[in-house]
Amino acid sequence: MIKLLNPELYEEDDRNAVRLIGAACPTCSGVFFPMQTYGCERCGADLRPRRFAAAGTVTAQARVHLHRAANPPTPFTVVALELDDGPVIRALLTSDSPPCQIGDRLVGELVDITEPDSEPRRDLRFTRAVAQ
Ligand SMILES: [Zn+2]
Repeated sequence: MIKLLNPELYEEDDRNAVRLIGAACPTCSGVFFPMQTYGCERCGADLRPRRFAAAGTVTAQARVHLHRAANPPTPFTVVALELDDGPVIRALLTSDSPPCQIGDRLVGELVDITEPDSEPRRDLRFTRAVAQ
C-alpha cells in the first residue's frame, strides 16, 4: 500500500472514502481543520478530533502558473472550499479536473504523486463532483 503524503491531515476509511482529520468544540460546536491542540479559537475549550467528509463547495480559486517547488507541477489550481461539514480549507484540484467555478461541488480523492528521489505517495486532491 502506498503511503499518504500527509497522514496527519486525511485518511481513507474502510469503504475507500477520504476523510479530513479536523476538530470540533464540545462547548460552542465550532469546527476546525486541521486538528490542533491549542483549544477552540472561539471559546478556548479543549477540542475533540472529528472526521469531515472530503466534499464541499468552491468559494474562490486561483490558477498557478509559476511555483518554486517541483511538486505540484504547474499549472495547477488552488481552491478555497467550504466543506459540507463546515470548515473552509484550501485544496488543489486534480491535474485532469475540468475548470471549476464559484459554487461548484467538489469531492476529494487520493492520487498518486511522484517526486524526484522520493518513494511514491498518495496525496489529497479535489475534482468536480459528478451530478447524480
Ligand atoms: Zn468553542
